[in-house]
Amino acid sequence: MKKPLIIMIHRVECDDSSIDNLYYQRNMVIKIDKLIELINEIIKSKFSFGTITESIDTRKNLHITFDDGYKEHLTVAKILKKEYRSVGLKKENCSFAINIGNSFLHEFSGMDLIYNIIKNNSIEELCSYLSINNQKNCNLDLLKKIYIKMNISEIEEIKNSFKYNFEILKNQFLNQKEVIELSKLFNIISHGVYHRDLRYHKKSSKREVLNSKKHLENLGIKPIDIFCYPEGKSNKDVWQICKDSGYKFGLSINHAPNNPYKIGRYCINRNIAKILRKLKDA
Ligand SMILES: [Zn+2]
Repeated sequence: MKKPLIIMIHRVECDDSSIDNLYYQRNMVIKIDKLIELINEIIKSKFSFGTITESIDTRKNLHITFDDGYKEHLTVAKILKKEYRSVGLKKENCSFAINIGNSFLHEFSGMDLIYNIIKNNSIEELCSYLSINNQKNCNLDLLKKIYIKMNISEIEEIKNSFKYNFEILKNQFLNQKEVIELSKLFNIISHGVYHRDLRYHKKSSKREVLNSKKHLENLGIKPIDIFCYPEGKSNKDVWQICKDSGYKFGLSINHAPNNPYKIGRYCINRNIAKILRKLKDA
């Protein structure tokens, strides 16, 4: 089974959005016009909008996913709704992955926290904290490698050791009210609590995979049956944790055939050429 046409989007530049330069440098931003242009191109080919299941089964359906619950996602959701309602875009055709820590608990984590920290401190300070002592190795890629494997108290310790801007982080993510509003427009899926590599510290992983589902469902957003792995990282143990917690699917980046817990996605920024090639092959 080939990788289905599920696209993965992070930040979207809309008229009113203010997105820090770092997100541009990390190639995580797409302009709304460009996004619409690409979706138009896809649906002008043999693809039409579909649910996750349809995109896996038919390979003629496009499913759109947004990761991390960034503030602008509600604006984008409204724009897409307006733009594509007449050509059959339904609620189940887009999924928005929400991180409980960032959106509701204000226990900020993920690379968003790291980006914020290096705006307020030097990257070198953070590198030496993480024992990256060779100046040459002090870069965001290596920082990320070390950071996403940390346990929850280590993540907390970073926040106690470095200055970060609470208000900027708070305003960067959708809040509870906005997530509920978004849930009326499109699918909400879970993206965990601490945005870390769930293959490590499995006891905590179990807790956050289950708790993030419960948290969203307690807000009346039901059912939460898709889990989106932070940084796309998963393995057999994580698939089992998701299954045991009541999820039906796990969204990743790489694809494994016939495994509902390792569904691949195409990154809209990095895989545009691949996506366009797929349209020709269909
Ligand atoms: Zn994410």
